[in-house]
Amino acid sequence: MVRAIVGANWGDEGKGKITDMLAKESDIIIRFQGGSNAGHTIINNYGKFALHLLPSGVFYDHTTSIIGNGVALNIPYLLKEIKELESKGVPTPKILVSDRAQILMPYHILLDTYEEARLAGKSFGSTKSGIAPFYSDKYAKIGFQVSELFDEDYLKEKVERVCEIKNVLLEHLYHKEKLVPEEVFQTLIEYREMIKPYVCDVSAYLHQAIKEGKNILLEGQLGSLKDPDHGIYPMVTSSSTLAAYGAIGAGIPPYEIKNITTVVKAYSSAVGAGAFVSEIFNEEADELRKRGGDGGEFGATTGRPRRMGWFDAVATRYGCRVQGATEVALTVLDVLGYLKEIPMCVGYEIDGKVIKDFPTTVQLEKAKPVWKVMPGWNCEIRGIKNYEELPKECKDYIDEIEKEIGVPITLVSNGPERDAIIKRK
Ligand code: GDP
Repeated sequence: MVRAIVGANWGDEGKGKITDMLAKESDIIIRFQGGSNAGHTIINNYGKFALHLLPSGVFYDHTTSIIGNGVALNIPYLLKEIKELESKGVPTPKILVSDRAQILMPYHILLDTYEEARLAGKSFGSTKSGIAPFYSDKYAKIGFQVSELFDEDYLKEKVERVCEIKNVLLEHLYHKEKLVPEEVFQTLIEYREMIKPYVCDVSAYLHQAIKEGKNILLEGQLGSLKDPDHGIYPMVTSSSTLAAYGAIGAGIPPYEIKNITTVVKAYSSAVGAGAFVSEIFNEEADELRKRGGDGGEFGATTGRPRRMGWFDAVATRYGCRVQGATEVALTVLDVLGYLKEIPMCVGYEIDGKVIKDFPTTVQLEKAKPVWKVMPGWNCEIRGIKNYEELPKECKDYIDEIEKEIGVPITLVSNGPERDAIIKRK
């Protein structure tokens, strides 16, 4: 059975924790999009980890972790992450990397950084991990596929051709040092030696695994609202964050994805620029940021403070819809225990009209939140294992979210630890 674990919001919903937990009963965990630009924070018996490129299943010895063809593969970063795990006592995970994955090049990071600087105040808030230049090159057909590393003549010729294009930008737009094709070629040869032990025809491997009835997890990065097609374009990421893309980014038939577990946050947080209707500010935001997640809402990759907001039913309902959510895991509910009342955004007011359907970005910029205030439970719910033991106000809050999004909430997460999870139905 193939199950996707994806985010309904702006990312940082706690997908890592849910994947780590569900990986226990899985054979294979796959990253199918994105790169090292966002992180998953995982707390388990080995300690606390911020994984950026590796799938969140690497902590079990019965699992195979896969980097699918849809990922932006930063080879030195991947190796660094593997070494870090080993140095903290995690048994060396079994890792496979698709021979069709493309390579994130050092110049992608440079170009990302230079472009952010050039845009200055008008930037999209990139993490400068090279993701946008990487995917631009992939679709412009000037990216490097892992398989190409093994044909030196072909590689050499292509490196020269690509450097010619990159050097125009570097010289004339950014006024920076030009690339030397021979150096780029040597880097790729080094990358080849590093990645060689992991390279695999992943699509064929998964075809066999599906035939054998293996349990497979597709782990999404970021969330629905950062999807380039269905999110808040252009303040989005550069690869699709939707479960549907799991089929493409892993190389499996779409009809094999039977379960789409969509992770929803009990409040909102976002990084980067863009309209964020249920956003809160000042002390109200500081308080939630300080208490949020595990040790505060700060980016796992950049450490920058996240923007905070209350739960947004309009955005989340839409986020679940575009994912095709079959069930929902509601996370970080414990964080809201300090509140006597909890506001929830249940509509957007645009030009005097209240709407319930998430609009396109141009309209979204004009939207004002319509609030509904729910009673808080105002106590600690960490440690509770049984749904019935949750305070009434807490169950009412869950029911209200479920009613708004129209998808069954089957899992409720009430702490960052692996076992802090309440099964609901
Ligand atoms: P991801 O990218 O969706 O995996 O999310 P992140 O890992 O960036 O952010 C989730 C943060 O919330 C991490 O610090 C987790 O340890 C933490 N977390 C996950 N679930 C819960 C929860 O139910 N309660 C609390 N307090 N923290 C949680």
